[in-house]
Amino acid sequence: MKIFCIGRNYADHAKELNNPVPTSEPLIFMKPNTALLLNNRPFYYPEYTKDLHYEGELVLRICKNGRSVQPEFASRYYDAVAFGIDFTARDLQDRLKAKGHPWEIAKGFDRSAPLSKWLPLEALPDVNNVHFQLKKNGEVVQNGQTTDLIFSFDALICHISKYFTLHKGDMIFTGTPAGVGPVQIGDVLEGSIEGQQFLTCSIK
Ligand code: MG
Repeated sequence: MKIFCIGRNYADHAKELNNPVPTSEPLIFMKPNTALLLNNRPFYYPEYTKDLHYEGELVLRICKNGRSVQPEFASRYYDAVAFGIDFTARDLQDRLKAKGHPWEIAKGFDRSAPLSKWLPLEALPDVNNVHFQLKKNGEVVQNGQTTDLIFSFDALICHISKYFTLHKGDMIFTGTPAGVGPVQIGDVLEGSIEGQQFLTCSIK
């Protein structure tokens, strides 16, 4: 199982971190399967970072194998969405970015990808117009709308499958909207899709 992640897929988030907004192709990175944190289990703040950030994201579930998927068939390759958090050790990431190094340890560490249960696409009127929201300690910190994606879900399927064969069960973290920020021990994150709560993550 592979976990693909997309960076800077919402212009307002790219700008808040002073990153260029991608135009020609999406920014792709991966997390290992040991990054997954399921069933609303708590997240234990790791000792190697002093600046852990949440990034609330919609996650796609890949439902069939494919490579070099053409645009007209792309929507057949995912069948559900979930709420995920792309936890990021921002201090480590900034250090690695400054050196031009890969940022795996800042993004792919153990339990860095809390993931909710899946919501079948049939339950959504339009996957290209989905609202999702992240609350920290009961206060809304991120509001996302998939109409604001720079690269649509279909475009991501086409692009990723050009380089990596998609397998049933793979997933794609599709990027975070503006409002990312730090968490502290004791914080509680709650993610919802279309007003329905999907994810709870307590920081211990
Ligand atoms: Mg992210």
